Amino acid sequence: MDLFDKLKILTDAAKYDVACTSSGVDRAAGRGGIGSAEACGICHTFAADGRCVSLLKVLMTNKCVYDCRYCVNRRSHETPRTEFSPRELADLTIGFYRRNYIEGLFLSSGVLRNPDYTCERMIETLRILREDYRFCGYIHAKAIPGADRSLIERLGLLADRMSVNIELPSHQSLSLLAPDKSKVSILGPMGGIRDGIRQNRTELVRYRHAPKFAPAGQSTQMIVGATPDTDYRILNLAQGLYRNYGLKRVFYSAYLPVVENSLLPAVGTKPPLLREHRLYQADWLLRYYGFSADELLDPQHQTFNPYVDPKCNWALNHMEAFPVEVNRAPRELLLRVPGIGVTGAKRILTARRTASLRPEDLKKLGVVLKRAQYFITCNGRSVPGLRLTRDSILRALLSARELDLYSRDLPWEDAPQQLSFFGGPGPEREEVRKWLAT
Ligand code: SF4
Repeated sequence: MDLFDKLKILTDAAKYDVACTSSGVDRAAGRGGIGSAEACGICHTFAADGRCVSLLKVLMTNKCVYDCRYCVNRRSHETPRTEFSPRELADLTIGFYRRNYIEGLFLSSGVLRNPDYTCERMIETLRILREDYRFCGYIHAKAIPGADRSLIERLGLLADRMSVNIELPSHQSLSLLAPDKSKVSILGPMGGIRDGIRQNRTELVRYRHAPKFAPAGQSTQMIVGATPDTDYRILNLAQGLYRNYGLKRVFYSAYLPVVENSLLPAVGTKPPLLREHRLYQADWLLRYYGFSADELLDPQHQTFNPYVDPKCNWALNHMEAFPVEVNRAPRELLLRVPGIGVTGAKRILTARRTASLRPEDLKKLGVVLKRAQYFITCNGRSVPGLRLTRDSILRALLSARELDLYSRDLPWEDAPQQLSFFGGPGPEREEVRKWLAT
């Protein structure tokens, strides 16, 4: 098989991994047009300074001795198989880099023979790039679950970012759908990377030229919607990973059914994109807004509200915490107001040192007044004429189309008990979910 065919197979096989942001679009140039987009091959990531970096996203091999039910590369799935040698892949990466196609590499792999052997081949690829070619660009490497700790350490010294995909959020789902993997084989390397990063920080303080270990941190991916695991479980797991393993990012991937299996949603089922979106919004709240997972969901309410974002939902369910006085409230309270983001809160804190803020000032500071007006006061006064009940606020926050669907789904006037955002799913609600997912 020639190099181009290998590249085609191994970039296509890598496209389902979202732990590195991917374009996900296939588009050929029309008549007279220029440029085209491919769902596989080149993906993008964001540097710490906000710069977008293009990466070659590829597998070392799609041969795999594991049989994860959801994966196109599992051993029981018939598909063309191939592998790169470390030298081939390093040469290809450098060739692309020199032509200015890419700025870095995202390298993952199926498990060839065993985790250690696979990891050694990845290390050799990265070694050639770093030492023979003296390549200093960005490299994201996937740690193979079950690989020896010393190999993970060597990989971490060559890569900028590392990730171990947790894939399924519960032990039960893992044993059902990925029987060759275990919680221990995933959390082991994750713990090893965390310890390596911590130790490296100390070394760098003592020795300025100590080699850096995974300086861009580690991330993971969780599949959403392949198993009955709820948003509550997924969010709690993400919170645990941030707290205990120091992860930089948890990526959520709406499950796209590509394989027939009785344990999985049927091929053709739409991926739960709205759910994925809500999880990303909630994840943001965990990382930057001081929320904890059990404030956003609880055992009685295990799924997100499809109509409003998690922060707004929290605010509507905690009307006793509002209104917040923007001229006096501490940062953590400002961050709980829908329409006030991290930047907005910072600007408010700075601006109010010199003057008392009025509603018209807030707009200039980046506050989305259309949302925030229901939850704040300026010098003790709220915007005149607003009805400050949970239902009237929700009605005002939804778009006309959402409002129409919501009204049909949960009529608010006649049955107050139906105003619960977490009522049982009915056909109308499903319709709304689908509509919002498109
Ligand atoms: S280990 Fe599982 S998820 Fe990874 S390539 Fe093999 S079958 Fe796919």
